[in-house]
Amino acid sequence: MRITCVGGGPAGLYFAVLAKLADPGHQITVLERNPEGVTYGWGVVFWDDLLDDLFRYDPVSARRIWEAAYKWDEYEVRCTGKDVTHLPGYGYSLGRHRLLDILSERAAELGVDLRYQTESAGRPVLPPADLVVACDGAGSRLRDQAAEHFGAEVETGRNKYIWLGTPRVFRTFTFGFERTHAGWIWYHAYPFSRDASTFIVECTPETWTALQLDRLDAATGCARLQNIFAKHLAGQPLIDHRATSGGTGWMNFRRVTNRRWDHGVVALLGDAAHTTHFAIGSGTKLAMQDAMALSDALAAGEDLPVALERYEHRRRSALAPLQRAALASSTWFERMPSYADLPAKQFSYALSNRRGDYPLWRYVLHVTTQTAVTRAMLRGALATRRRHRARRRLSERGTYG
Ligand SMILES: Cc1cc2nc3c(=O)[nH]c(=O)nc-3n(C[C@H](O)[C@H](O)[C@H](O)COP(=O)(O)OP(=O)(O)OC[C@H]3O[C@@H](n4cnc5c(N)ncnc54)[C@H](O)[C@@H]3O)c2cc1C
Repeated sequence: MRITCVGGGPAGLYFAVLAKLADPGHQITVLERNPEGVTYGWGVVFWDDLLDDLFRYDPVSARRIWEAAYKWDEYEVRCTGKDVTHLPGYGYSLGRHRLLDILSERAAELGVDLRYQTESAGRPVLPPADLVVACDGAGSRLRDQAAEHFGAEVETGRNKYIWLGTPRVFRTFTFGFERTHAGWIWYHAYPFSRDASTFIVECTPETWTALQLDRLDAATGCARLQNIFAKHLAGQPLIDHRATSGGTGWMNFRRVTNRRWDHGVVALLGDAAHTTHFAIGSGTKLAMQDAMALSDALAAGEDLPVALERYEHRRRSALAPLQRAALASSTWFERMPSYADLPAKQFSYALSNRRGDYPLWRYVLHVTTQTAVTRAMLRGALATRRRHRARRRLSERGTYG
């Protein structure tokens, strides 16, 4: 089969890897508009569920991702005028650059033809293919050329956000809230390597304008944010790599949905098909799980329309709960100022219960696990679970390299 993937993000590269593993006879080309090694964004987070899937589908790239990933414990909530509180949990993070390096290296090893600095202007000018995978991101040009057929809708979130990085290595995943003269502004930060953290800043449009963030260039804007978050950054700078590697500046989140995901030989994959708000950190996972589902559907050997329908059906049902969680999460952040006067423990509980469906015992657990001793006990229990899952993954797949 001749397969063209338009877009060399996690969706396109991982699909190319899996399709080639499923059938080395496929001729697979990935067209990526950026030069090799250039991408937007900083680190992304993920959890054991994605690692389990990755090990099941391609233990070789899974192992590289796992070994490169930064492991963190707990969430910390820091809010002006309140005690620091903690939420239980653990996870992993990895620089987007590093993830794409691992996936492109694996794709090249398997014989995928990777073409960088090749911007597709759309369907009519693509080389002939039996399957065209539109994995060109949330602003997919391929999708937009047939937007009516796909029933594409893009809803724009109210808040403003910017995806920055910093050499300040946060201890763990941290939500930080600061009150300014112009209203509340906050960040979602997590370490993703031994020398850098992601630092996503978010605020309402009113605060954004009042702080004049709408009219500052990258350097002056970073300086203003550094000033606001000085206590959290321990003297380290914020970095906006807009000028050097495709940073996007301030944005409103775009919630993309499509009524259908295929059009003849074209299939939507990853953010081109659906986006989920970054506050639940799942878009990369979902993009890679799309790739798993599409490669499974093709490998089943049915006609392409049947395979594409099977793929879409499987993914839509898997996505639904996460999309609800993402919507509830983004809505919570849009209303954040109305929770700001809650006492520290109630505030961080409200943040963790953004979907509003936790049972009462979660609140009791939250309140009783704010002391150093109870937190250490909980961390110990979760570390055991993490080790157990890691051991299980390794023993289920004894033979990867
Ligand atoms: C602020 C922020 C934080 C996030 N944090 C997380 C997180 O912690 N965890 C997580 O799982 N997800 C996170 N995400 C979501 C994640 O980044 C996306 O869901 C994921 O990148 C989707 O992968 P993709 O391959 O579908 O699209 P993309 O990663 O956007 O890749 C699309 C690729 O297509 C290329 N392209 C576009 N148009 C063309 C064209 N015409 N021709 C050729 N190439 C083209 C682009 O250059 C790009 O390389 C975050 C998103 C944001 C905005």
